[in-house]
Amino acid sequence: MTRATSVALTGATHARLCEHLLRDDGQEDLCLATYRASSGRNRATAILRDVILPQPGERDVHGNVTFTGEYVLRATEIAARTQGGIVVLHSHPGATRWQSMSGPDRDAESSYANLARELTGLPLVGMTLAGRDRTWSARHWDTGVGRDIAASPAHNVRVIGATLDISWNDRAVPAPRTTGQHRRTVSCWGEEVQADLARRRVLVVGVGSVGLDVAVRLAASGLTSITVMDFDIVKEHNLDRLIGATRRDVALRRAKTHVVGREARRNSTAANARIEISNLSICEPEGLAVALDHDVIFCCVDRPWPRAVLNGIAYSDLIPVVDGGVAVDTMPSGTLRNATWRSHVVAPGRPCLLCNRQLDAAQVALDMDGLLDDPDYIAGRAGHPNQPAGQNVAMVSINAAASLLAQYISLSVGPAGMGDPGPLQYLLSTHELLHLDHPSNPHCPYEAAEAEGNKRTPLVGAHSAADHLRASHGSDLPLKVRALRLVDDRVDSIERWLDRRA
Ligand SMILES: [Zn+2]
Repeated sequence: MTRATSVALTGATHARLCEHLLRDDGQEDLCLATYRASSGRNRATAILRDVILPQPGERDVHGNVTFTGEYVLRATEIAARTQGGIVVLHSHPGATRWQSMSGPDRDAESSYANLARELTGLPLVGMTLAGRDRTWSARHWDTGVGRDIAASPAHNVRVIGATLDISWNDRAVPAPRTTGQHRRTVSCWGEEVQADLARRRVLVVGVGSVGLDVAVRLAASGLTSITVMDFDIVKEHNLDRLIGATRRDVALRRAKTHVVGREARRNSTAANARIEISNLSICEPEGLAVALDHDVIFCCVDRPWPRAVLNGIAYSDLIPVVDGGVAVDTMPSGTLRNATWRSHVVAPGRPCLLCNRQLDAAQVALDMDGLLDDPDYIAGRAGHPNQPAGQNVAMVSINAAASLLAQYISLSVGPAGMGDPGPLQYLLSTHELLHLDHPSNPHCPYEAAEAEGNKRTPLVGAHSAADHLRASHGSDLPLKVRALRLVDDRVDSIERWLDRRA
């Protein structure tokens, strides 16, 4: 697979750049910025950090704008000091959509590409802003050296502000074809929004009842690239909520990702959907690398450690995380007192999970130490109010999935010009919807790590519970189970063949 490239910036940085690059006199302008690398498994992203506006004499606006070597050296010093790379940005005031490079653009960027890479150790990134619709385009000067240096066009540029706005390179990632199956979906928001949503690479972390519903609905909505991540296997007590999972999946010790991948494929309406499964934990370095390939992440896990990792990359790597879940409250007699479901988007400009009280730093530490999997520790904590009891009902969990998806629509489509609504909580007993007002702590370590990229606080490491479970559904299986799996896989592939022929 070819390595993709991307650029991400906050809405605040985008606004600052637009203000400088889009001039009242309609001429082109330029400026420089720094970035941090964010390295996924198959994608390299430049995360924009400091905007370095030109000082007098550092650039000349005369129809085609030019800049001096001194300006580049000043920016390179800042980049090297902050362990970042250099971005050259300029505007095409009358243009719309993704821009290919003109001859002068190419000459200007290529003349500094070797120098920037040599001094910072990172490829020069070039960006163009189309003035009429504020679409970005970008390229990484990451191929060849000397006179042969060349730019790889980015796949997209992501701006995370009140909404997530993505500029697409149609050549690298063509708009997926819509068919009669999508008629009702497209009639909700139009072809252009559908072409954007369908191309986004979405990761669902944790595919229990909520994650399964989210993944299947995304697939049915025509998304072409969905990854589901979980290391757990299907057990008997999951069958009352994991819609589509069967007793056969329990007997064959199927991974939850296997079942959810299968159900997502069965419900997909995209012509060539790529439904990928990952049996890693987001807490493992390889799991984090998979996550960094995505444009949006749904967090459907309830454990503190993975949620802390996702909380971190929402800020450090500018990948918005749609998070939420269900809590069921029972009486001592065992009857239902209340159930609540929450949902919120975690991204710059919004409170993180720690600040909106959805994450407890002490519990994160216990989880990282493996204590939440330690039977002695769990026995000693039985009945503690912070201890999740795991009650859930399919009729309740669908509401959490619906709430997460509604947050995602607001974040992505911005109905009535509004982005996501902030943290929400629904109370089943009284049927009230609460807008929770939890301001960010000004000293929040997660939010302070905005745009850190690969210099993020390392929260990942070895995960013995994930290793253990993977072994139990991997190569250590009894011969009978392995044989039955082969038959089951064959049945599945015949069904898929029949679907394709239909
Ligand atoms: Zn915070």
